[in-house]
Amino acid sequence: MASTAQRNVLVTGGNRGIGLAIARAFAAGGDNVVITNRSGEAPEGLRAVRCEVTDSASVDQAFTDAEELLGGPVEVLVANAGITRDTLLMRMSDEDFDTVLDTNLAGAFRCARRAATGMIRRRHGRIIFISSVVGLYGSPGQTNYAASKSGLVGLARSITRELGGRGITANVVAPGFIETDMTAALPEAQQKAYLASIPAGRFGRTEEVADVVRYLASDAAAYVSGAVIPVDGGLGM
Ligand code: NAD
Repeated sequence: MASTAQRNVLVTGGNRGIGLAIARAFAAGGDNVVITNRSGEAPEGLRAVRCEVTDSASVDQAFTDAEELLGGPVEVLVANAGITRDTLLMRMSDEDFDTVLDTNLAGAFRCARRAATGMIRRRHGRIIFISSVVGLYGSPGQTNYAASKSGLVGLARSITRELGGRGITANVVAPGFIETDMTAALPEAQQKAYLASIPAGRFGRTEEVADVVRYLASDAAAYVSGAVIPVDGGLGM
């Protein structure tokens, strides 16, 4: 893996699942890592700050707290916090739609906006959005989630055009089915159907998403921006 040594990294929603694996991978590689958690509690071996991504003031405060712990500005932002609230289009309430958009898309925007202030000053920064293959291909019962996750592509590409000349890259990682609480909660029949559609013949591991995120944060990816990288075992090809 290319070097990412000693960067200040913030992973939102890094207390469990994919975010936790990402945070642990950066920490294992020698970076300074802080995660955000809505409770402010830290998983073993990591530092955490409280953050509610639907609230701009909370996001701004979380960055201020994180930067104090890190001893400097955030250089790598992994905008990972996300939720689902699945239901068919005809049954989806405004609230179902708005809550998911506010968390997954506007939440990522709020974090990127705050991170960019320090990155612009230093003329260096890496912003990585955790999207989903659902954002690229859609999924029944997930119009809200798919819209939020495809919105991240426009966000990353616009940031690339706006801030690319200032040493900042913005990319999207789109996981497929990854072994987490989210996928474990699916009915067995649905899990089997999904497995049958994955060329790799298995669900992905959280560490496999973390490897791609770490690559995008590394010096080796300095010329990669506005990219969308699926980590899906070939599901969406
Ligand atoms: P998870 O539910 O285990 O973790 C989500 C994290 O986001 C949690 O830490 C949660 O506290 C945080 N979060 C949610 N709402 C928040 C809010 N309003 N403010 C602050 N934090 C909030 O999910 P996961 O499976 O680890 O997924 C992580 C990311 O990867 C999500 O964005 C998800 O959409 C995406 N993803 C997951 C899969 C999968 O197979 N699990 C596939 C594709 C994409």
